[in-house]
Amino acid sequence: MSERKRPLLLDVDPAELPVSGGRAYRRRQLAGWIYGRGVADVAAMTDLPKRWREELAEAWRLDPFDEVRRFPSWDGSVRYLFVLPDGRRTEAVYMPYETRKTVCVSSMVGCPAGCTFCATGALGFGRNLSRGEIVGQVLAVARHEGIEPAAIRNVVLMGMGEALLNYDEAIAAIRRLIDPAALDMSPRRITLSTVGLPARIERLAGEGLPLTLAVSLHAPDEATRRTIIPTAHAHSIDAIFASLRRWQEATRRRVTIEYTMLAGVNDAPAQADALADLLHGLRAHVNLIPFNDWSGSGFEGSDRGRIDAFRARLDGRGASVSVRFSRGQDTGAACGQLSLQGAGEAA
Ligand code: SF4
Repeated sequence: MSERKRPLLLDVDPAELPVSGGRAYRRRQLAGWIYGRGVADVAAMTDLPKRWREELAEAWRLDPFDEVRRFPSWDGSVRYLFVLPDGRRTEAVYMPYETRKTVCVSSMVGCPAGCTFCATGALGFGRNLSRGEIVGQVLAVARHEGIEPAAIRNVVLMGMGEALLNYDEAIAAIRRLIDPAALDMSPRRITLSTVGLPARIERLAGEGLPLTLAVSLHAPDEATRRTIIPTAHAHSIDAIFASLRRWQEATRRRVTIEYTMLAGVNDAPAQADALADLLHGLRAHVNLIPFNDWSGSGFEGSDRGRIDAFRARLDGRGASVSVRFSRGQDTGAACGQLSLQGAGEAA
């Protein structure tokens, strides 16, 4: 069967993986190779019968990506560019912090949300990624970094795409990450980022998944938010916060509010006060994100003094707040910068 026509084995649940000769333990062995050791080549699965390995290789695709390119940054992070079998491309970022190794994965090729300050939004929408293509980013990063998949204990769905618009595949990917028969991660160490889609947040509240939920607010008032986030025309801040309260009732988890600091757009003291007002009655942490510039963005980041003043004002109002400096700015890997830079060389 041609490479593109073979189904992706990572799209299959560990409990549904094929077996050889009716022997269920072969399924566990296969899952061990895929998720335990991160192997994407059946030929290397040496304790499986040779004949079965040949059948598997004939019927299934093990590696979701035709090509993987690595772009290491001076700060230790690595941007990954993946070429899919249909020629589309997506990206992930590996961040090896001292105490934890984190992978930021994409849920889509490009993004339909079109946030005006985001390089991914400027690309437009390519397509949704399947559950296997999302989980496969974590496995590919582990393989290319020469570490076992179990060494990666944190995954953030904050790369390309609005995960809640690819709901079924994103949730299935998260369930795979926490499945003891797959990557066995703690749901608390998985962060799902959304632009703020109330109906989907409420649906997520019913999933029984105690994830970390991060909402890209970026402005505390409707008028400003609508200038930078097109979906704000359809979803009001009040509706988003009502859904966050329901999420919190269901999960008991703190919510993360993402706020990119844009000079002259959302960094005024009055906007800090308005944000503090919004947080009443919600257990939340605010991440202030210095804007990572990209060519043609049309925005300028707030300067350090302005960010510090905004942080101090929120702090003074009793909000939990920190400033998050992104990694990988030199390789285009920082938050809001993913734009398939270097894709030409990868083709
Ligand atoms: Fe999409 Fe997130 Fe970029 Fe908005 S900020 S365009 S939701 S990737």
